[in-house]
Amino acid sequence: MARKNANGLKPDKANLPHKICQTCGRPFFWRKKWKREWDKVKVCSDRCRAKKGGHGTP
Ligand SMILES: [Zn+2]
Repeated sequence: MARKNANGLKPDKANLPHKICQTCGRPFFWRKKWKREWDKVKVCSDRCRAKKGGHGTP
């Protein structure tokens, strides 16, 4: 009756690691672009990173 995914794909976010953004406080999920630096990622977006006022990142 109720299939969760018509395509047979796994639900994306369920399997992904996630963190809480240190700037906006929202949860965000792993992205491909972070696969090498996930441990270092602390904010959800470039915008939040800029807000955080990091110094030394061009
Ligand atoms: Zn954020």
